Amino acid sequence: MGKEKFDFSDADLRHRYRHTSSHITAQAIKRLWPDAKLAIGPAIDNGFYYDIDLDYKITEQDLLKIQKEIKKIIASNFPLEKSVMPRKEALEFVKSQNEDYKYELIEDLPEDAEISFYTQGEFTDLCAGPHMESTGQIKAIKLLSVAGAYWRGDSNRPMLQRVYGTSFPSTQELDEYLNRLKEAKLRDHRLLGKEMELFTLLEEGPGFPFFLPKGMDIRNELESFWRVEHRKRGYKEIKTPLILSESLWHKSGHWDHYKENMYFTKIDDRDFAIKPMNCPGAMLAYGTKMYSYRDFPLRFAEMGQVHRHELSGALHGLMRVRTFTQDDSHIFVMPSQIKDEVKAIVDFIDYFYKIFGFKYNVELSTMPDDHMGTLEEWKQATDSLSSAMDDMGIEYSINEGDGAFYGPKLDFHLEDSIGRTWQCGTIQLDFQMGQRFELFYVGADGNRHTPVIIHRVIFGSIERFIGVLIEHFAGKFPLWLAPVHVKLLTVTEHFSDYAQEVYDKLSELGLKVELDIRNEKIGYKLREARNQRTPYICVIGEREKNNRNLTVRSSKEGELGELSIDEFSNKLLEEIKTKKI
Ligand SMILES: [Zn+2]
Ligand SMILES: [Zn+2]
Repeated sequence: MGKEKFDFSDADLRHRYRHTSSHITAQAIKRLWPDAKLAIGPAIDNGFYYDIDLDYKITEQDLLKIQKEIKKIIASNFPLEKSVMPRKEALEFVKSQNEDYKYELIEDLPEDAEISFYTQGEFTDLCAGPHMESTGQIKAIKLLSVAGAYWRGDSNRPMLQRVYGTSFPSTQELDEYLNRLKEAKLRDHRLLGKEMELFTLLEEGPGFPFFLPKGMDIRNELESFWRVEHRKRGYKEIKTPLILSESLWHKSGHWDHYKENMYFTKIDDRDFAIKPMNCPGAMLAYGTKMYSYRDFPLRFAEMGQVHRHELSGALHGLMRVRTFTQDDSHIFVMPSQIKDEVKAIVDFIDYFYKIFGFKYNVELSTMPDDHMGTLEEWKQATDSLSSAMDDMGIEYSINEGDGAFYGPKLDFHLEDSIGRTWQCGTIQLDFQMGQRFELFYVGADGNRHTPVIIHRVIFGSIERFIGVLIEHFAGKFPLWLAPVHVKLLTVTEHFSDYAQEVYDKLSELGLKVELDIRNEKIGYKLREARNQRTPYICVIGEREKNNRNLTVRSSKEGELGELSIDEFSNKLLEEIKTKKI
């Protein structure tokens, strides 16, 4: 076996490595269940899967058995050898192997496609490649789970068994990944959202989240922070309608580029669309007044709720929804102002993310195939983004062809406390929308000019950002964001009066307090308060009542001992004021 060390930061190699792992998994399955029919086995983010058709239902126990076989295949270090067959021969071959799904896959290939197979030991699989050179190059495979999946995602086709796994160049890296996975599971925002009573998703509104009082509290804190910081930086807040005429979306270009993801409705026989983006509304708002260059940069900000269609299988808690609120902004500038404005936005984003303890990296996305505007305009826009970043000395990577259809963009990827990244902030330059909407400003020369528009978000989607925060903090929010600051628990009902007195005093200072004077065991009350990740829990009994103080336990710092009510409230108010993480 080779001793080469693979660079897993190389996406192509990672892909080849994991795709080869899926072949090995299929080979192992065929050894154990020769009747198994193979469908597809791609590499995916963080791993791979193989879909198989088998009457026998594979259990978690079986995964260990498959894994043993995988070990043998790796030890055999089979080379992966490519062979090509003419279509007719290929069809006959897979038919002789009873591989019905492969048969269908070949039939669907274009006439002139090369039909290739890869053989490793006794096992041959239809595949276009590419792969690693031999099975021995795969060091550590772990099968993770098995789930049902329809052939070709079509509920009218057979239900297959999808075996998920992952692989890494060393056992150590695999273990690290598995630990992260375990940690992520404990932090799952859907689980914590339920325990902490933050939000819910109901069958009546698939992909349309409900915010419960405590989740709404977090959301309101985020939004008021957002408002204060925007006002400081000269943004003016607007609100535009959720439903606007269909013709508007033709004009904006969304019809041609985004129709598939939009919802439509009719009012008085006229066609309308539910907005998937806030831009056209902001353009209309700009058009209501005559602006001059003296008004620029003109910064409109909007907490804009949008609706976008997502496949039901793609929905995921607050991370992938069908309605969300963008902390959107449309900034109207002269070309000469682009660079400084982009720099100011980058500064703003930097300030925001640091408040939550996020590190981030930046990606510049360039012109996609499906785009509006000339090459010239794209070059100018892309250059101004990159030169702003260069001026600020911020490193960024380039994402070829991933820009929006109307302009290039800078994407900000947050890194959370367990090393996962989330794309949140975006700055997009746009030379198109102003022309499409025939917007103008009066320049210093007294003539009409088309403004350049900068679209930007910082949270991205508030809903998703809250999901990310829940997982980042594992539910233990900084005090300024926590829906409840303190929970007072009485040992018995003898202490209700004193507890009420403390409650009144703390509430008056603006702290969010909950009082639990129920006639329940203290252990039960404590458990409940901890499950809700309450930052501070005070148990009130004989001693506290006599000493007129509090025994305080912090979810982050542990037991803090006895504090006077003043000491305690001052500590909390300071923590809120400084937005301590
Ligand atoms: Zn393959
Ligand atoms: Zn926009």
